[in-house]
Amino acid sequence: MKNSLEQSDLPLVQKLGHAMSRIQVAMRADSWESFGVSGLNPTQGQILMFLGRRSVALRLNEVADELAVSAPTVSDSIGTLVEKGLVKKNKAQDDGRAIAVSLTTTGKKLVKNLDSLGESLGAAMSQLPHIEQIQLYKTLTRVVRELQSAGKIPMARMCVTCQYFRPNAHGDAERPHHCALVDAAFGDRTLQVDCAEHEPADEYLALQNWETFASAVRG
Ligand code: SF4
Repeated sequence: MKNSLEQSDLPLVQKLGHAMSRIQVAMRADSWESFGVSGLNPTQGQILMFLGRRSVALRLNEVADELAVSAPTVSDSIGTLVEKGLVKKNKAQDDGRAIAVSLTTTGKKLVKNLDSLGESLGAAMSQLPHIEQIQLYKTLTRVVRELQSAGKIPMARMCVTCQYFRPNAHGDAERPHHCALVDAAFGDRTLQVDCAEHEPADEYLALQNWETFASAVRG
């Protein structure tokens, strides 16, 4: 029988949402702080970091899709970053009429000093035992994948959606997974969320891999 505290308790999903909204407040504050010292707003900072993770020039719509912001917002932000000498515009390689953007040398130097997590949240996360950090990373990977499946965020270059991923292919608890591209075993800590070598798995393999990966998490 539930006691009075348990009876008035909110649904767990609601409490998770509340906790995440508190984290979001910290992330927003961190973001203004860490990007602000470089004279950037959070959107401009995120654009720079996204371009920094890509080795090729990207079209404006690719940047807008990735960050889930409108095309005019990206266009304005890119314009400011070009004025600051951090981003350059060129013709897209596959279409001379389209524009693609990439970091300038100054932009690349700045990106090395930007912190995606932010100081406060980074400090809070580092207080968690290593094993909890890995578990949280794995859980967040699942949440990201669910959001992708629901079409709420663009597809990320994650192991769990990659054709080379072989989840739980090994009996080794430290390194249960396998990357068929580099033919190497790896553990949860090494799961990638933005891998340059990522190749999307077809629908069948992606679902099969997900079931194998998620069933091990469920236990
Ligand atoms: S290629 Fe990259 S994303 Fe794909 S399984 Fe290997 S490490 Fe993961």
